[in-house]
Amino acid sequence: MLAAVLEKAGEPLHIMRVPRPEPGPGEILVRLEASGICHTDVHVWQGHVRPASGQLTAVLGHEGVGRVVQLGAGVSDWRLGERAGVAWLHDTCGSCEECHAEMESFCQHQRAHGFDVAGTFAEYVVADARFAARLPAEGDAAVLAPLMCAGLTAFGAVRRAGLIAGEICAVFGCGGLGLYAIQIARRLGAVVVAIDTDEAKLQLATSLGAEHTLLASAELAGNWPAHLRAHVCINFAPTPATWDAMIAAIRPRGRIIAAAMVSQPVSLSQEWLTATGVWITGTSVGTRAQMRELIQLHAAKPFEAQVERVTLDAATSALDRLKAGNAEGRLAIVFGADSHPPGRSSLFRQA
Ligand SMILES: [Zn+2]
Ligand SMILES: [Zn+2]
Repeated sequence: MLAAVLEKAGEPLHIMRVPRPEPGPGEILVRLEASGICHTDVHVWQGHVRPASGQLTAVLGHEGVGRVVQLGAGVSDWRLGERAGVAWLHDTCGSCEECHAEMESFCQHQRAHGFDVAGTFAEYVVADARFAARLPAEGDAAVLAPLMCAGLTAFGAVRRAGLIAGEICAVFGCGGLGLYAIQIARRLGAVVVAIDTDEAKLQLATSLGAEHTLLASAELAGNWPAHLRAHVCINFAPTPATWDAMIAAIRPRGRIIAAAMVSQPVSLSQEWLTATGVWITGTSVGTRAQMRELIQLHAAKPFEAQVERVTLDAATSALDRLKAGNAEGRLAIVFGADSHPPGRSSLFRQA
């Protein structure tokens, strides 16, 4: 099969033929139709992050959509030809408190596609039959692919916040994840305030249901509108710059959710925390149960997303553009001759 192989951190991925993997017991082989490209892939490619297991895979990617073409021994709940989603979690330990509490995305013994185990920048991928997501047979694979990580992470963040109808939800950062979160929060009946440094992204946020938009700046924290004090603040912006505005925006007993990976520390007054009772927590991708809910929501009414299609050969240039911040919307590798031709295609405002 063809795969984009990582040989050395930060160097171009090598497009080459490698042996097609065989599914072991409890595993399925998926022939990919599309694979989204996520910012985490950039971090893995650049060598910024290393798996705790010490076993870094050579094939990145964790937003795969494809068809089941082979069943490993003992797999009885998948049929050949069914559509499967291959997301970040390849498997988890199944025996820790997080796994037992259906909080498996916090399992400290998890293995991830495109990180510890081979990912989806290849024509085929082996998935754990218990962790692959069951997807609708119909629909554009390139549109489904970003749901596997970007959509799920946004959904997991909104769920982690316990957001309910009528609450004000402030979404910081209106890239791919933030735009999914806005749509999810609106469907739950929340009032959405969208915050970004980019006016064009705020316009997109409005078109997807954000009632209020605020341009991010150093002055925002000091000028947060009193009528928009939020029950929930979710940070999707990969910067500590949003922190002061979140502290200014949050109501007493509100919930602040860290969804973007920000390595720089932020300041926090414990005195303020005692006085306000604010909850501060984090989130990482989502669980299998959340994935099922997300797919049901998408099947009922597709989430809108801007997806640009690229070929496997263009994986490195796509990663480069993500690294430089030059990609609008999400990028997806499409496989096979019958797929849509690569190119820019906006799915916004699709009837
Ligand atoms: Zn991801
Ligand atoms: Zn576990």
